[in-house]
Amino acid sequence: MTKKERYSKVIAWFEQNMPVAETELRYKEPFQLLIAVILAAQCTDKRVNIITPALFEAFPTPEVLAASNKEAVYEYVKSVSYPNNKARHLVEMAKMLTTEFNGKVPATVEELMRLPGVGKKTANVIASVAYKVPALAVDTHVFRVSNRIGLTDNSKTPLETEKELTKHIPQRLWSIAHHWLILHGRYVCIARKPKCETCGLKAYCKQYEHTAIPSSLQ
Ligand code: SF4
Repeated sequence: MTKKERYSKVIAWFEQNMPVAETELRYKEPFQLLIAVILAAQCTDKRVNIITPALFEAFPTPEVLAASNKEAVYEYVKSVSYPNNKARHLVEMAKMLTTEFNGKVPATVEELMRLPGVGKKTANVIASVAYKVPALAVDTHVFRVSNRIGLTDNSKTPLETEKELTKHIPQRLWSIAHHWLILHGRYVCIARKPKCETCGLKAYCKQYEHTAIPSSLQ
């Protein structure tokens, strides 16, 4: 199967089987999404969703969060991974929002990446989810699943993966493709034990092609 055919089959499968794919983080506006995505780095969305309602209530605006301090925020985020760093980043991020962005979450990837705690992946997620800017964020699931299916050729870095995916996937699908690959990686193509036998993509998956036992040997 050529790479072009593989992309076309995989996209068609997702369009048919996952017509709606969205972030599982709970939020009401861009500021809350930004906080949730920063907290979700190296942590599960499920855990983040447990702690954010109280956090959002205590710090409803960038101004309130900016006027707070790391210790106060830590009390709300201590059950996520890296709570010290994340508490510090949240306060510093809110300070920059109030001093440089008029209290509004910026919409471009470049501006978002200036905020403390916001790298390329987080910036892409915010731009695409909150502002519908075409962007394809590559997290650990997107990176792994793309390599396994053969959408990328043993890509070594998230940036390499992003370049390859955005070259082959139409721009109008970048945002949903990010969620397709995340959800597939979270629930089917799991890191340790992918559920290949029940996976709807196995007919188009490079790793499955290489590992499946030929029927003549079964
Ligand atoms: S067939 Fe297996 S390796 Fe391929 S995408 Fe599905 S779960 Fe992942």
